[in-house]
Amino acid sequence: MSDCIFCSIIKGSIPAQIEFEDDRIMVFKDINPQAPIHFLLIPKQHFDSLMEVDSKDGDIVAHIYMVAKNIARQRGFDRNGFRIVMNCGQDGGQTVQHIHFHLLAGRSLQWPRG
Ligand code: AMP
Ligand code: ZN
Repeated sequence: MSDCIFCSIIKGSIPAQIEFEDDRIMVFKDINPQAPIHFLLIPKQHFDSLMEVDSKDGDIVAHIYMVAKNIARQRGFDRNGFRIVMNCGQDGGQTVQHIHFHLLAGRSLQWPRG
């Protein structure tokens, strides 16, 4: 997807503050953080949203959650807790059409949101 901002971050043509990367996913700081810690976790393979993820690709979602857990433990915010959010489609508030998971921590988060 040549016009996808997150694919451009993966390619390195748009800069980002990268927290973690492996062959399948990338984690970087959200440019407009909603909490003291706000990372975005994305698969390197482009999917517009969760609706494009097939069961054969489904282990990428589990991998993203495991990496989020490891980051939480390494940075020590597992003790106070954190939130993972995935917005899907217009009503879900998705603004970037490359599936991504928000990892939020560092303050008490309210629920329900919005
Ligand atoms: P969503 O509203 O769930 O689609 O979330 C999209 C997120 O991407 C927002 O929180 C934006 O702040 C974030 N974002 C957009 N462009 C960039 C960028 N170039 N680098 C980092 N985060 C970005
Ligand atoms: Zn993309």
